[in-house]
Amino acid sequence: MKQNYIGGAWVDGPAAKPNVNPSDLSDIIDDYAQGDEQQTLQAIAAARAAFPAWCDSNIQARSEMLEKIANAMLARQDELGELLAREEGKARAEGVGEVVRAAQIFKFYSGEALRMRGDRLASVRPGVDIDITREPMGVVGIITPWNFPIAIPAWKIAPALAFANCVVFKPADLVPGSGWALTEIIAGAGVPAGVFNLVMGRGSVVGETILTSADVNAVTFTGSTDTGRHVAMSCAERNKKFQLEMGGKNPMVVLDDADLETAVAVSLNGAYGSTGQKCTASSRLVVTEGIHDRFVERVGEGMQALTVDHALKDGTQIGPVVDQSQLNVDLEYLDIARSEGVTILGGERLNRETEGYYLSPALFTETNNDMRINREEIFGPIASVIRVKDYDEALAVANDTAFGLSSAICTSSLKHAEHFKKNSAAGLVMVNLPTAGVDYHVPFGGRKGSSMGAREMGPHSVEFYTATKTAYTAA
Ligand code: NAD
Repeated sequence: MKQNYIGGAWVDGPAAKPNVNPSDLSDIIDDYAQGDEQQTLQAIAAARAAFPAWCDSNIQARSEMLEKIANAMLARQDELGELLAREEGKARAEGVGEVVRAAQIFKFYSGEALRMRGDRLASVRPGVDIDITREPMGVVGIITPWNFPIAIPAWKIAPALAFANCVVFKPADLVPGSGWALTEIIAGAGVPAGVFNLVMGRGSVVGETILTSADVNAVTFTGSTDTGRHVAMSCAERNKKFQLEMGGKNPMVVLDDADLETAVAVSLNGAYGSTGQKCTASSRLVVTEGIHDRFVERVGEGMQALTVDHALKDGTQIGPVVDQSQLNVDLEYLDIARSEGVTILGGERLNRETEGYYLSPALFTETNNDMRINREEIFGPIASVIRVKDYDEALAVANDTAFGLSSAICTSSLKHAEHFKKNSAAGLVMVNLPTAGVDYHVPFGGRKGSSMGAREMGPHSVEFYTATKTAYTAA
């Protein structure tokens, strides 16, 4: 059984749960501890106790620890990438790529640990000086989703530790393996006891305890919009700082003047990469009339040529859906699409050598933006095409959504590209690129129903993981 990590020790949970490979339901990766309220409170207490010393820790020491974690991840990238693909179902190459990305994030924050900036200003009062400094928040609760089981934990844990916070980390219940392996690496890097704690288990138990404990100063959450709303309410009631990254319904606009090859390639990548289980997936393909038919034909062909199979098999491009309940959601939206009268290509349940949650990618055509399939996040290998008259209508449709994470446009027109960058109501805007795929040294986050609070990643994450202090001194 894989144990929780609390106060520098590996401890059994009161219960355990098997981690099942969605590509092969007979393959149980291991049993993983399921923490309860008491164990979560112990982890929070350990973090609280470790905080005073960690808060005063030397920046060089913190920087070196983060570097060590990054190097250990890189040394184990193939093994960790395989574990990730095995538990989550994305293709092996994507799994290894995610591990490398997570390591790069730790490297970046190894540098950021050295750059705790402040400011010194003159006062409007004679003889007074002002220092503006940043201090760690204290104990940070980290709650993550299943779809990026090592990159998302990395982009929260690395800045939390870099800026001298103690951490209680709760990975997604469905895929605890990558988070557990990351914890093993963190524990081996000499991070002092209590500074970093792992409690695996259910959101309604472990997550809820993190939200309600008065000893947790800040909560960073990535997951669904419904859970995010609950996190926000709970934290607001307790004056706890919070940061939310939630769902998306990201538009990919394709204009008549787009390069067709590029438009097809970025749409296939954005819509179906990682089985479409990305918050930044291109789920609405908003296409102008002149290119519509050629685009639909080519995307349909490309989509049907994608190899759907076991995540660890060579040649697999699309792995299985993550579990039965997400598969049920995908199948339900296929039914909704049928009832809404759209044309459906693909979307069939597939059998492979091993029993798994295999679904062929689906393309909905002849849809409009008012349909449920275009209003609600599906989170599967499914995209809709919405036909529009011109750029103005495309922009209006792209922005007509409750979400605002990522958006993209394919065009050869500088005028439209620049106008779209300025007027898209999303936090991330891409030109001639997929809606998914971001750098780690720049801010990440959305607007409207997709995000709330300070930005993640890059130097901007200092906003969330620290509190500002303004000190006045009379000479
Ligand atoms: P989810 O909301 O079901 O769970 C997210 C995390 O919250 C899990 O660890 C879960 O155990 C925990 N949780 C559940 N109930 C809780 C509670 N009452 N209190 C505290 N914690 C609780 O989301 P999911 O199904 O794991 O992930 C898929 C969702 O994540 C999609 O909506 C996707 O768009 C979103 N997502 C967003 C981003 C982003 O950066 N915007 C990135 C990846 C995924």
